Amino acid sequence: MGIVVQKYGGSSVADAAGIKRVAQRIVATKRAGHEVVVVVSAMGDSTDDLIELAKEVSPLPQDRELDMLLTAGERISMALVAMAIANSGHEARSFTGSQAGVITDNAHGKAKIIDVTPGRIEKALGQGYIAIVAGFQGVSQDSKDVTTLGRGGSDTTAVALAAALNADVCEIFTDVDGVFTADPRIVPTARQLPKVSYEEMLELAACGAKILHLRCVEYARRYNIPIHVRSSFSAREGSWINSKVDEMEQAIISGVAHDRSEAKVTVVGVPDKVGEAARIFETLSEAEINLDMIVQNISAASTGRTDISFTLPRTDGQTAMTALSRLKGEVGYEQLLYDDGIGKVSLVGAGMRSHPGISAKFFAALAGAGVNIEMISTSEIRISVIVEEGMVDNAVAAAHDAFDLAGDEIEAVVYGGTGR
Ligand code: ADP
Ligand code: ASP
Ligand code: MG
Repeated sequence: MGIVVQKYGGSSVADAAGIKRVAQRIVATKRAGHEVVVVVSAMGDSTDDLIELAKEVSPLPQDRELDMLLTAGERISMALVAMAIANSGHEARSFTGSQAGVITDNAHGKAKIIDVTPGRIEKALGQGYIAIVAGFQGVSQDSKDVTTLGRGGSDTTAVALAAALNADVCEIFTDVDGVFTADPRIVPTARQLPKVSYEEMLELAACGAKILHLRCVEYARRYNIPIHVRSSFSAREGSWINSKVDEMEQAIISGVAHDRSEAKVTVVGVPDKVGEAARIFETLSEAEINLDMIVQNISAASTGRTDISFTLPRTDGQTAMTALSRLKGEVGYEQLLYDDGIGKVSLVGAGMRSHPGISAKFFAALAGAGVNIEMISTSEIRISVIVEEGMVDNAVAAAHDAFDLAGDEIEAVVYGGTGR
């Protein structure tokens, strides 16, 4: 039997009882004859707690030190899981990201994996150990400093290791039974999807469905690693994310995703001249900010000026505003506005390609729920809107309803976690 990589998220290892429960599942997989590599996240909400602690000490902690602090969270769980496994009669060895050979670039807080050299993991497996790896962390190739992969990054550690070890499957254990048509915390009638294509899962993850980290899905698609998302609290079958879902099985809409992690910046009164947008976006790119939606209005003839709005991660808001305010003299815009009271709601479905009228139905559903649309963007298989943050839940529920996505079985179960 081959190698199985299992990842347990924070809510699955939230306390001692959770750690013991997870250890039993790991041991059962080992007893079934597999070589087992386990990736763990920090316990419960401890990453958030560490971030808050850092901010109490310093309003703008240095990236390097913040990574050093946050990686401690995963180190705690990896050691405890190894101890719990030992207690049930099997031998486990825990490894930090660096020891497991997770090599990244130097972008603290959002590092990209550039190589995985899991020599020590292979050796441990060869000696009959269960290998436990701290998720979400790596080591910079250049500086040799400890890095983190961005919030939710343990999923990516798991898939990257699965690819490097040529594992049969990467199992992502979490606090819900799989991937649903919407976040079950918002829509209790959401239906579990037994199979999701990489393509659709990529859009859902990119639109904020935090059940899987975006880069983990990108990685899985590139290396063709099947992902099995399932609950560590139940024995249900879960959801499979793999290469192609048969066209015949493809629903028009596979789900509704939402995201409350973005903010909107508006540059008001930009002179309508060649090169102004380029100047603004070059500045943001130099500051290494990833933008999401961009909207530019047609300039008003009377003023010869236009407004440019874009969305970005809230965590980059301060950096973006500082960089843009330095441009004021050069570009000659009138005003800079920042709004972090927004949310994004997206409708995703591969069948959208061949079905007209989806946007009309989506926007009508939002109107019916009294939701005002601030921005719109589309891809071939997605429509996203920016709405007021307080309206996100209503918007998700209305869209889910309008496209008849609810399941007719039991309500979706949320087994743990705080949804933070
Ligand atoms: P973990 O701690 O296991 O990494 P996360 O909190 O990162 O768990 O991800 C699981 C959560 O993702 C669920 O509890 C659920 O609230 C949320 N979620 C968002 N969208 C979806 C979806 N489409 N299907 C299932 N869960 C979703
Ligand atoms: N502990 C990290 C976080 O909370 C990584 C993860 O859970 O995947 O973002
Ligand atoms: Mg997660």
